[in-house]
Amino acid sequence: MSDPLNEQDLAGTALGMVATTAQSYLAGLPGRLVHDPATTGVLDELGGDLPEHGEGTLKSIEQLTHIATTAGTHSSGPRFFHFVVGGATPAAQAADWLTSLVDQASGVWPASPFASHAETVALRWLKDLFGLPSSYGGVLTPSATFANLTGLACARFWWAEKHGVDVTVDGLASLPRMPVLSSGYVHPSSRKALQLLGHGRDTVEVFARDASGAIDLPALRERLASLDGPAVIIGNAGEVNAGDFDPIEELADLAERHGAWLHIDGAFGLFAGVSPRTSHLVRGVERADSVAADGHKWLNVPYESGFAFVRTPELLGRAFGGWNAPYLPAPDETRISYNNLGPESSRRARALPIWATLRAYGRQGARAMVERHLDLALHLGRLVDQAPDMELLAPVQLCVVCFRCRPPGMAEQDVEKLNQRLGEELLADGRVFAGTTLYRGMTALRPAIVNWRTTETDIDLFFSVVQELGRRLSKSW
Ligand SMILES: *Cc1c(COP(=O)(O)O)cnc(C)c1O
Repeated sequence: MSDPLNEQDLAGTALGMVATTAQSYLAGLPGRLVHDPATTGVLDELGGDLPEHGEGTLKSIEQLTHIATTAGTHSSGPRFFHFVVGGATPAAQAADWLTSLVDQASGVWPASPFASHAETVALRWLKDLFGLPSSYGGVLTPSATFANLTGLACARFWWAEKHGVDVTVDGLASLPRMPVLSSGYVHPSSRKALQLLGHGRDTVEVFARDASGAIDLPALRERLASLDGPAVIIGNAGEVNAGDFDPIEELADLAERHGAWLHIDGAFGLFAGVSPRTSHLVRGVERADSVAADGHKWLNVPYESGFAFVRTPELLGRAFGGWNAPYLPAPDETRISYNNLGPESSRRARALPIWATLRAYGRQGARAMVERHLDLALHLGRLVDQAPDMELLAPVQLCVVCFRCRPPGMAEQDVEKLNQRLGEELLADGRVFAGTTLYRGMTALRPAIVNWRTTETDIDLFFSVVQELGRRLSKSW
């Protein structure tokens, strides 16, 4: 019966319905379970066959609103500490809706000078925020994975050119293997980027001094000195298990001395640069050849949001432009078509939430958020340290706290099993969310605190839930 052409335009009404739900949903977020396992059955309401005749705008949006706000994971609330997942600031969230409202085709300048200009401004503000030179080129990406891909694609272009090959035109076939060196902190997404670029996921040479993955700088230095041609170094600013950093300044020195490319994966760690209390962790990042980070983590803009910066701006166009299609705009320095500068073609105007959050809260807002999270992480670190049945496994440096439950006197293999169970129970419980990892061979919890809504009360609750479940499990041992 219903098709969008003969239904009266109900978009405004449907948006109003979502906005009304948003009021109560957001107000209720702090009091909800992060995920309520009892709502899994609601997912069935998504199912069924493709409707032959649609149910109409209002009915389908009403259904989806119900399912999403009931069975969805409330990860934008204050107690989701699993992975590294940020929330959405009020300004960013509203701007994200606006992005859909005006639905810009933001890859090509002629389709939306507005979106292109907003992206240029957002990138300029981000460089300023992170202390990166304004001369760097940049592009917004869907994620840090794509930002790593972007930086490493530029590295690859640069490296191939040193071998006399235009890799954009001719590919890798006539080239040797590109040397890529990193510490044990290298993130799987950097490997995935290398895999997509045709270098192979496992070609990264890892120089780690121990099981934590911390860099073995002398070994990396020796390897660099032994290489004939240019190499690519991946430095990791903020690793996901304990929030540690590679020594970026030293890597920049090495890259300079050996003519190597330095790519920094700063998905969340780049934000250390916005506070004088933590900026030492990323000292030297302004000397990198390429830098990747996420917006949807610590900037607290909605998914999907990442950004890449490159010291030599032309490389973006050379790695990603040159479509050779007569209907697409050629690279132009003032009327920028961002699809020439990154891996995507058509793309949404993801600059808008970034612009809005930076405009709304400014440099001081970003700094205050990072410092609050640092304080909360330090607070959690102290709670862990003072509890006789908990063990802090790494010093708290930024926003990740790596620890495990360790009842006094329990044998190591039982401690392992206990923490594996604890990880499962925590997610099943649903009051708070955190994930486990393997850190120096030990199963550990690694909550990441990067959501603007999180308060000390949430952290205290997190800790008491972990302790409660840990005690219950160890009693039944
Ligand atoms: C999250 C993360 C990534 C990947 O980011 P996505 O946004 O998930 O693609 C890369 N590196 C580090 C260090 C990360 O924490």
